[in-house]
Amino acid sequence: MASFAKELLIAQLAVQRATLLTKRVFNETAKGAVDKSDKSPVTIGDFGAQALIISALHANFPDDEIVAEEESSLLREKASLRDQIWEFVRGVKLSDDEAEATIGGGIKSEEDMLKYIDMGASKGGRQGRIWCIDPIDGTKGFLRGGQYAVCLGLMVDGDVKVGVLGCPNLPVDDTAPLTADIASGHGVLFSAVKGQGATSRPLGDGSLAEGKAISMRPLTDMSKASFCESVEAGHSAHGDQAAISEKLGITAPSVRMDSQAKYASIARGAGDVYLRLPVSATYQEKIWDHAAGYLIVKEAGGEVTDANGKALDFGIGRTLAENKGVVAAPASVHGEVIRVVKEVLAKKAAA
Ligand code: AMP
Ligand code: MG
Repeated sequence: MASFAKELLIAQLAVQRATLLTKRVFNETAKGAVDKSDKSPVTIGDFGAQALIISALHANFPDDEIVAEEESSLLREKASLRDQIWEFVRGVKLSDDEAEATIGGGIKSEEDMLKYIDMGASKGGRQGRIWCIDPIDGTKGFLRGGQYAVCLGLMVDGDVKVGVLGCPNLPVDDTAPLTADIASGHGVLFSAVKGQGATSRPLGDGSLAEGKAISMRPLTDMSKASFCESVEAGHSAHGDQAAISEKLGITAPSVRMDSQAKYASIARGAGDVYLRLPVSATYQEKIWDHAAGYLIVKEAGGEVTDANGKALDFGIGRTLAENKGVVAAPASVHGEVIRVVKEVLAKKAAA
C-alpha cells in the first residue's frame, strides 16, 4: 500500500545535496593535507551534512523522529569551528532550482543549524517513523580520498522501509571490478524501498539522474566469490574473516574498504559477501551504520543477518543491541556462509 515515493525522492535529494558539501569540504580542507592526524575535515563534513539532511527531513516530514550520529554541544563551545561549518552549509545548494525547491526548508542561521543537528537525538525504537543518519560513514576513507558514504534510512515500526547511500568515490559503472584502491571521484547514489527493489544512479549536483535496477551477482561456486571487509582492524575481526573465507573456498584476497560502500558494492554485483565479525564482546553496532546498506542488499537479492544468522533488529534503539556482527551475502548462499561462520566462531571459543 505505502509506496514511500515522496520519502524516497526527498531522501535521495537530501543525500545528494549533502555529498556536495562533503566533497567541497574534502577539496577545500582535506585534500593534500600533510597532517592526516587533523580530523577537522571529518568534523566539518559530519556536522554540515547532518544539518543539511535533517533540515530536508524536517521540512517535509515534521512529525518524524530522527536518530543521527552527531549532537551540537562541541559546536556550541567552539565558535570558530561552528563558523567554518556554517560557511559550507550556507553555500551548498543543488544546481537545479526545482530540485532544491522540492527539498524546501533551508537553514537560516548558525543557531538554526545547531537546532537541526540536535533534532537527531531520538532514542529509536519499535514505534512510528524514525529516520537514521550517518552523515559521513567511513571517516578514515573520507580523509584519505577513499570510500565513504552519506547514509540515510527510514524505519517504520522498527522495519527499514527506505535506504539511500551516497558514495562519492565509487565508480558509476556497476560492473567495475571491486578493488581496495578505487576512488573515481564520480560517485554513485544507491537506493531501495522495501518490496520495490534496489537502484543505482550517477551521483549528480542537481536533479536526480536516471536510475537502473541493481542486483547481486548470481553465485553458485564459492571459489569464484569475492568478499569485502572493513579497512580498520578494530571494526571487524580480520583473522576470523580470513579463516571463514578460506573454509568457504574463496580464493581471492579480501577487498578492504571503509563505510557502507561495502553493502553497495555487493548489492550491485561488484563483490559477493560482506563479513563483519565482532572484535569485542561488548560493542553494539549502530543502526545508522547498517540500515540503508542492509535494505539495499536485501532488495538486490541478498540476505543480511548477524553472525549467528539472526535477523537484525533495528527496533531496539540506537544500536543493534540484540545482534553480534553482520554477514551479508546472496540469499542463495547465505545459509552456507553462516554455517561456516558458526564453525569458525565455535572453534575459536573452544580454543
Ligand atoms: P567501517 O567503515 O566498516 O570500518 O565501519 C565504520 C563504522 O564502524 C563507524 O561508523 C563506527 O560507528 C563503527 N565502529 C566503531 N567501533 C567499532 C567496533 N569496535 N566494532 C564495529 N564497528 C565499529
Ligand atoms: Mg558510521
